[in-house]
Amino acid sequence: MVKKKEKKQNWEGSTYGLRYFDKPVPKDKMPENGMPADAAYQLIKDELQLDGNPALNLATFVTTWMEPHADKLIEETRNKNFIDHDEYPKTAEIEQRCVKMLADLFNVPKNADPTGVSTVGSSEGVMLGALAHKWTWKNRMKKKGKKTDKPNIVMGADVHTVWEKFARYFDVEMRLVPMQPGKYVITVKDVERRIDENTICVVGVLGTTYTGQMDPIEDINKLLVKVKRTKGWDIPIHIDGASGAFVLPFTAPRIKWDFRLEQVKSINASGHKYGLVYPGVGWLVLKDKSVLPDDLVFQVNYLGGVMPTYTLNFSKGTSMVVAQYYNLLRLGRKGYAKIMKNTMDNGTYLMKKLVDSKKFEVVSAHHILPVLAVKLKGKQRYNVFELAAKLREKGWITPAYTLPPNAQKIEVFRIVARENFSREMADAVFNDIMEACDFLSKKKPKPKKKKGEKHHHIC
Ligand SMILES: *Cc1c(COP(=O)(O)O)cnc(C)c1O
Repeated sequence: MVKKKEKKQNWEGSTYGLRYFDKPVPKDKMPENGMPADAAYQLIKDELQLDGNPALNLATFVTTWMEPHADKLIEETRNKNFIDHDEYPKTAEIEQRCVKMLADLFNVPKNADPTGVSTVGSSEGVMLGALAHKWTWKNRMKKKGKKTDKPNIVMGADVHTVWEKFARYFDVEMRLVPMQPGKYVITVKDVERRIDENTICVVGVLGTTYTGQMDPIEDINKLLVKVKRTKGWDIPIHIDGASGAFVLPFTAPRIKWDFRLEQVKSINASGHKYGLVYPGVGWLVLKDKSVLPDDLVFQVNYLGGVMPTYTLNFSKGTSMVVAQYYNLLRLGRKGYAKIMKNTMDNGTYLMKKLVDSKKFEVVSAHHILPVLAVKLKGKQRYNVFELAAKLREKGWITPAYTLPPNAQKIEVFRIVARENFSREMADAVFNDIMEACDFLSKKKPKPKKKKGEKHHHIC
């Protein structure tokens, strides 16, 4: 009797011996009874092992590694709700310190009074920035006694999906500049042809997701300054610096794309891209408080004290805001500059090796991000989609996609170098790419990629 009981206990004590492991996990219905914590943990953990390895994810711009001290701060702050400014006043203060530091990094003029918010990512920053411009335009038109039913926004097909989302969700006509083979950003002429009195803003992309190139922001600014003087249309520029705003200040501080330019009024940046923080933080920085119309700022008074908010969502964690502040303090300008230099160098090193192999051609000439976009050279028996699939066998996650219209015939293979992309990794992925190319070129020709396989955004 005693023996039997003992046996049962031992058996039950082993996680994989538990009865939860010989049945499928509950998927559609919440189970009636729960399960031991170790069983739930192990079931979920094991299933997640089938995800890709974040360190080998060369598709994403988003951070997959932070220092142990940052990890510690994140753990220690994850039970605070960011929106409770009254309860967590220091967190709120830290957010605003980050905003001030970024405004300074983006060269805000001395006489300006910059403002801004932390967001969940650049997408929220884009929505909030563009909404501010929509409202400013509306208020201005109303004052002039003019109609406000036809706002438009001018941008290139090189923008991220979020811009098309903004236009549709907030009912703004999208004046999209098409791309051309060999031209993957917009030009000043493209902009000039599309702006009018109803243009709420022009979008300048600082590092496109497709090729890592930048729109000619300084020249667009010149055009809009001229238009303001001659026609009286005060059209702001919003900079989508999701990736570039945390790169260029360190790699190319002399290039003017930021608040040094008269019409640049708002900038978004992804803290979780080259801000070097895990997913969940972005920034919207406005050149001056006057850029943000009062009617968009809500005064919330039910958390104790009156609190102004300009956000799309309400509750969120504080950890990533704190982690951003950690990086700003810990690395300083010099630290960021060193990381960006290594990252750029390792990206360029791999790019050169790919081109030297004579199997690839550069698509992203003059790119400003550690992003390499290449296409296959000449006619091959395989395409970039097959190459990406083959590399997945080794664990590498690399995207293949077609460029936006009218350059959609161009099939691109992209690698994003991030902080933890070491020289060693560059060599390792290069060798695996060569091996994959050799394997694929020996295969019988395969039918082309499926119809309807469109360019998709991987960030
Ligand atoms: C990543 C990216 C976005 C979207 O940013 P999230 O931080 O993912 O919301 C927008 N624009 C550009 C240029 C991007 O690279």
